Amino acid sequence: MEKKIVKDILFLSQVSQQASQEDLYLARDLQDTLLANRATCVGLAANMIGVQRRVIIFNLGLVPMVMFNPVLLSSEGPYETEEGCLSLTGVRPTRRYETIRVAYRDTKWQEQTITLTGFPAQICQHELDHLEGRII
Ligand SMILES: [Zn+2]
Repeated sequence: MEKKIVKDILFLSQVSQQASQEDLYLARDLQDTLLANRATCVGLAANMIGVQRRVIIFNLGLVPMVMFNPVLLSSEGPYETEEGCLSLTGVRPTRRYETIRVAYRDTKWQEQTITLTGFPAQICQHELDHLEGRII
């Protein structure tokens, strides 16, 4: 179900808790909310729809990728860029990495690792920041 986007900075500044299999339902809510906002949004963290659990979604080609408990394993190729966020107005400068490797659990709760480059890597880093309560 599509959820309302949280814009409360105090709420968004809190660190999200580990997700469990009871949070698997969030995949659907994140997909529906991402789809509803697709004109302006390429990724979401669960706290942006009001749930402080470590779950993110972002566009990876044609299909959205959902990650539970994502962990950044490595990153290389730093660059400076600017990003916007559905929860904030305007764009802000930030440092990202061209290539990252991430471990996570998928929607079947299987452990996975993936290497991301370019734009999907950038969105993923933005959403990982949300899990730590970092908002650009
Ligand atoms: Zn954001």
